[in-house]
Amino acid sequence: MASSKLEKLYRTLIIEESRSEKNRGELKEATHAFELLNPSCGDVVLVQIQLSGDIVQEVLFQGEGCAISMASASIMCDLLRGKTLSEANQLIELFNKLMTGDLSKKDAKPLHDALALSGVRQFPTRIRCATLAWKAFDKVNE
Ligand code: ZN
Repeated sequence: MASSKLEKLYRTLIIEESRSEKNRGELKEATHAFELLNPSCGDVVLVQIQLSGDIVQEVLFQGEGCAISMASASIMCDLLRGKTLSEANQLIELFNKLMTGDLSKKDAKPLHDALALSGVRQFPTRIRCATLAWKAFDKVNE
């Protein structure tokens, strides 16, 4: 696929995910909840996680912000739901590497839709938007 076509596809996916309600909402059974703010853009995201043993049974988010931060939160919920905590941690690490540009195409595959955010790394000020929800989730390890 030509890279411009792929970019268009990624842009569409980001817009759709940023508007989607499928991963938004209050998780009453949450065992963990972390809220983070990105002052440089004004994004705020609350990530609620329901851990059952070491399985991420459910993860939802609430918040407001730019399309990148909201899309990234929604994509993250889809990706981490049903994973073990160690799988989730590996995916978070991969996503951070994607944002710093230290990831080969092959190694990036498990990120699925999160790859749509790969273009963000060209805009250093927006990387915080993209990583906000992931950083919030990562607090489960603290
Ligand atoms: Zn933002």
